[in-house]
Amino acid sequence: MATTTAYTPRPIPRDTLEELRRTDDAGRPCAPYTAEEGGSPLRCCLRPARQGERLALVSYAPLRRWAAATGAAPGAYDEQGPVFIHAEPCEGPDPADTGQDYPFARAGALRAFRRYDARGHIVGGRLVEIPERPAEGFDAALTEAFADPQVALVHVRAVEYGCFHFEVRRPV
Ligand SMILES: [Zn+2]
Repeated sequence: MATTTAYTPRPIPRDTLEELRRTDDAGRPCAPYTAEEGGSPLRCCLRPARQGERLALVSYAPLRRWAAATGAAPGAYDEQGPVFIHAEPCEGPDPADTGQDYPFARAGALRAFRRYDARGHIVGGRLVEIPERPAEGFDAALTEAFADPQVALVHVRAVEYGCFHFEVRRPV
């Protein structure tokens, strides 16, 4: 692939994954299973799962995790939802793929780009249909988001399922 991305999609951090593999953000024990078919979007490695991999579907609270590290107080904006992760320690995104394109970027799919300020409050969002050249669509949506000086963080979510795909922080 010739494209490169202007922003960095962040996988779930390694120490958080270790915690989620014990107890998820809803307080449930992890329940590993073997993928009968591939395709589940893995938020640890930012790629689709392959058939036969050991996975877990866990509840994850990305804003709560971010706020715990930054001291923000998102209050009622905190929410949690289902994400697929590897059930065992994994390598994270392949460095060879990093920066080549955005994860889970299929032309025609719908994504919500939800924007948060430094307090962890929602400050707008944008519905995007992924174009034929996905990186350009993601770059444009993120550039538009960060053009607002209030925006500290963007969550990219699948529209139909509402589930969290990855976060992008304001470049420093
Ligand atoms: Zn993984």
